[in-house]
Amino acid sequence: MELKKNISLKEFNTFGIDVKADIFIEISSLDEMLVFLANYKKDFYNLPLLILGGGSNILFTKNFEGIVLKINTKGIDIINEDNEYIFIKAYSGEVWESFVDYCVDKAWAGIENLALIPGNIGSCPVQNIGAYGVEVKDVIYELEAVNINSGELKVFQNKMCNFGYRNSIFKNELKNQYIIHSVVFKLNKKPVFNIKYDAIKDELKAMDVITPNIKAISKAIGAIRRRKLPDTHLLGNAGSFFKNPTVSSAFFEELKVKHPNIIGYKLSESEYKLAAAYLIEACGWKGIRVGECGVHDKQALVIVNYGNAKGKDIADLAWKIKDSVYKKFNVNIEPEVNVL
Ligand SMILES: Cc1cc2nc3c(=O)[nH]c(=O)nc-3n(C[C@H](O)[C@H](O)[C@H](O)COP(=O)(O)OP(=O)(O)OC[C@H]3O[C@@H](n4cnc5c(N)ncnc54)[C@H](O)[C@@H]3O)c2cc1C
Repeated sequence: MELKKNISLKEFNTFGIDVKADIFIEISSLDEMLVFLANYKKDFYNLPLLILGGGSNILFTKNFEGIVLKINTKGIDIINEDNEYIFIKAYSGEVWESFVDYCVDKAWAGIENLALIPGNIGSCPVQNIGAYGVEVKDVIYELEAVNINSGELKVFQNKMCNFGYRNSIFKNELKNQYIIHSVVFKLNKKPVFNIKYDAIKDELKAMDVITPNIKAISKAIGAIRRRKLPDTHLLGNAGSFFKNPTVSSAFFEELKVKHPNIIGYKLSESEYKLAAAYLIEACGWKGIRVGECGVHDKQALVIVNYGNAKGKDIADLAWKIKDSVYKKFNVNIEPEVNVL
């Protein structure tokens, strides 16, 4: 466990924001985590703590005056299997993309639609990552997390995590109270493919795939994502900046009268989810550059750093976008990114 002081976080967040952390500690095992937590109150006087994975869902608007704890615990273990399912435990510092590739190679199904999402295993339950009709909650069996106050290791069964759309108990009641140490995934040996999205069907067709398989689906999704989303190594970003807002069916009908092209997906008899990208684009933001940051020209949900943006520039742009959407549609869009 190495402690560094006053270091730049530029390479530790995909927006590429150059802020500093007072203290930066990398944790590579459960033992190191427990030693740190045992001494946290005494040695560090309860300084603010930020648990960091790959930094792909964080916008730093100022220096972090506290301790950044970078979780780097590695390992993948098969803990159980039967004819139908395989139960795999992955530790928090494993990179999500590599884990997906590993499972796809073995033909274990369930996460192929989540290919190429940046970030680490330990963060995937926090916002219940999702894409192309699949959410990680669909395959999380249980997870282990350490209580920051007591150092106690607790097992959370799937139901205890209160998963929702880009949401979990770790963003709400238990925010900043637990460090996720490992996640157990229940993957399918006899897959049921989730290819209801037209984009996937079209991509598979373009690839001449007649009978879908896990590898082909993951490849198709990789290709779609590479076309639509900016590479964080070339253009700093954190993926979708905003969540898709939910509105009542009655309000959706009103919106449809005023804005016939508005895009909404029926969630239930009483609710619709609106495509935030449509709302932002309709306010004229797509492709707009404001100084060193801007709205991506291929995906209006993504705010990008052209190189030297400050976190505050990006946050200011995001709040302007939010205001304009509210003024035009009377709809509140909330950030998906953690703004610090
Ligand atoms: C180009 C791009 C595309 C993206 N596409 C998608 C997408 O399709 N779907 C999607 O859902 N997301 C997407 N994202 C967002 C991002 O990939 C996910 O939110 C991812 O899970 C973040 O992982 P991370 O390790 O980088 O988390 P970080 O940014 O490091 O942390 C995110 C949050 O989790 C907390 N955290 C991190 N590790 C732990 C831990 N071990 N225990 C407890 N709390 C922890 C942090 O404190 C923070 O609050 C995208 C991002 C980018 C840059």
